[in-house]
Amino acid sequence: MTKFSDLGLSQPVLQALDLKGYETPTPIQEQAIPPVLDGRDLLGIAQTGTGKTAAFMLPAIDRLRASDNNIPFKSCRMLVLAPTRELAMQIAASAKDYGALAGLKVQAIVGGTSVNKDRNKLHRGTDILIATPGRLLDLVDQKAFNLGAVEVLVLDEADQMLDLGFIHALRTINKLVPADRQTLFFSATMPKAIKELVSNYCRNPVQVSVTPESTTAERIDQYLFMVQQDEKQALLELILSGRHDIPGDLERTLIFTRTKHGADRVVKKLSQRGISANAIHGNKSQPQRQRALDEFRRGKTSVLVATDVAARGIDIPGVSHVINYELPNVPEQYVHRIGRTARAGKDGVAIAFCAEDERTYLKDIRRVTEAELDRLALPENFRAVVEGVGPTKPPPKGQTRVSRKKFKPRPAGSGKPQGDGPGKPQGKHPARKGRPGGRPGGKPGVGSRRGGRGRGQGGSGGQGNAPRSAQG
Ligand code: AMP
Repeated sequence: MTKFSDLGLSQPVLQALDLKGYETPTPIQEQAIPPVLDGRDLLGIAQTGTGKTAAFMLPAIDRLRASDNNIPFKSCRMLVLAPTRELAMQIAASAKDYGALAGLKVQAIVGGTSVNKDRNKLHRGTDILIATPGRLLDLVDQKAFNLGAVEVLVLDEADQMLDLGFIHALRTINKLVPADRQTLFFSATMPKAIKELVSNYCRNPVQVSVTPESTTAERIDQYLFMVQQDEKQALLELILSGRHDIPGDLERTLIFTRTKHGADRVVKKLSQRGISANAIHGNKSQPQRQRALDEFRRGKTSVLVATDVAARGIDIPGVSHVINYELPNVPEQYVHRIGRTARAGKDGVAIAFCAEDERTYLKDIRRVTEAELDRLALPENFRAVVEGVGPTKPPPKGQTRVSRKKFKPRPAGSGKPQGDGPGKPQGKHPARKGRPGGRPGGKPGVGSRRGGRGRGQGGSGGQGNAPRSAQG
């Protein structure tokens, strides 16, 4: 088995990895680190969760150490472009960890925060800058920053940057960076527009491609409630307050809505019921988003409600449940959403709330993922509870959590009939049954990327970190 020390990394970087507790490189790290250390351009076809941040950051740190240039005034030596604020902040945190003993200065700038503060903090330059494209170009336009000293340029999640409308920004940035820099280009998909960008940005790149570990998806048990739109909030409240059993121990729950207003509505109603939750979406300020994420990470709030774009690329260990309060209209988005659970070798549970008018989305999800999504029964007397006339049984004293052991699925349909045909037989890991046994070779399952990433997020929970044209 390859070890980090076999890859040619320096002692300070190896020590930092030791501190992080990483023992062996992931496949993308194994393939990418040696050629990047050799100064080659790289095209990495990989998505979040594969360890790609370390795959580019570790060798780049060593390249910067080796060239030993001074920190340039109002510029940086390594520039990492990321589509969203959350991803940028996450990369910055990793860069600080990985470079802790290398003595490199790391800064991040993202939209939605004070431009003046960014201008001040970049005045003296930095070794590594992680930036969203819009904010970066704002500073360049103001002559507060320049890209003339960039030695290593990273484009992370390039397909997402295009989806978010950053194509013009990326073309501009390409003209501003020195021609002889090293470029590390990452994208989960390779549509034509990305190929064009690659040919403009990279010189004879080494190509490495990794699919996300299928085991991640296989560790996610997937379930489904057929529930009317106006019943969803009540169902959510019953689940989160422990009054309706669902599989798995509820620890940290990430809830997805399609729209920003939807997310706010859910949070507001939950708090009216004494369930504390935060929302992250494009209408929240960057400090609000960061605080919500931090509180969720630290366990101060155990419920986070997010839109797709805001949650993209974020890595929060310990998410026990993903609830799709509204189904995504792009099936691949479902895969991204449920991939927020079962991180770092843990199990996870994904639960979809499907209303009558979302059946087409459900069909698409089943087609793309080939997962069964075992149907769960609604609580007894559910309609009465929804209408506020039925008894809302309080949870047994001291019990607000449900446990996987205690969970005994009732046959679907034993609650209010929902008209989804007969419930499916329920096994221990029903969601796994529908998968073709033993990929590779079989058809792709949930963790696979068939048909590329979801596009057309416009209007569905948008992103505050909009392209420059939208930032005014
Ligand atoms: P990324 O794909 O870069 O977002 O990384 C996904 C997660 O894997 C992050 O939480 C990293 O800290 C973690 N990670 C990356 N490389 C390794 C490794 N070699 N061993 C263990 N964990 C890792």
